[in-house]
Amino acid sequence: MSLNSHIEWTDATWNPVRGCVKISPGCKHCYAETFAERFRGVKGHPYEQGFDLRLVPEKLTEPFAWRSPKLVFVNSMSDLFQSGVPDPYAEAVSRVMAAANWHTYQVLTKRSERLLQLLSGQLLFAAELGNIWWGVSVEDRRHGLPRVDDLRKTPAKFRFLSIEPLLEDLGEFDLSGIAWVIVGGESGPGARPMKREWVISIRKQCGEQRVPFFFKQWGGVRKAKNGRLLDGRTYDEYPERVAAQVPDRVNCLKIAAAFLESFEMGLKDPLVQLTA
Ligand code: SF4
Repeated sequence: MSLNSHIEWTDATWNPVRGCVKISPGCKHCYAETFAERFRGVKGHPYEQGFDLRLVPEKLTEPFAWRSPKLVFVNSMSDLFQSGVPDPYAEAVSRVMAAANWHTYQVLTKRSERLLQLLSGQLLFAAELGNIWWGVSVEDRRHGLPRVDDLRKTPAKFRFLSIEPLLEDLGEFDLSGIAWVIVGGESGPGARPMKREWVISIRKQCGEQRVPFFFKQWGGVRKAKNGRLLDGRTYDEYPERVAAQVPDRVNCLKIAAAFLESFEMGLKDPLVQLTA
């Protein structure tokens, strides 16, 4: 877990899965891939295997050790709902989020069909919790907007959109059932531009439908220079968080031990297959 995330809309990152497979235009300049591939072949580095998909079961219980409540971005270096992550492992990650409930978790995916399938079944227990925020990435109309429809069909208590990198005007779209919207442009070499009017349109729709709006950045090749002001101000709206009491250290350890015990058998097979 990284305690000091540089991502504007979160406090920390937790990566019990590493690596991913690109699936849509928003993935073109994936920062996680660029970062991970830098370390391919570096012995002992967490990204020794580059961006290849890898489960990291030794990271599963990390949130239990983190005792001040945080906003945690889950799998900032991966996608929990990609097909290579077995259902029991996605359940294990969700069980941790349900048990270490003094944190608020942000789970973001481009695999909205599997999100819908699992939240409606095996992960229903986690869908109904207020401390787990389920979100989809939206980059354009063709790939992104159908994900919003899938997300809306889930029984999630809290749903959010990460509209980043915004690649075109999304037009008018349905924000019903959505509790938070983040918007941002692409950054880094070869960044695709984002037009002001595309952002204004989303801000307007959020305002009309009373959805908190967070403007992350303009992006571009020189991200710091372009900043994050929109019409002369920042937009850092957040939804309300449900904060559970942090247990004392001994109880924290007991909860973590109980988690490990209850999931050991269920996790064994898929973990052996994928981490061998
Ligand atoms: S889904 Fe996310 S993590 Fe996976 S390749 Fe695309 S941008 Fe990268």
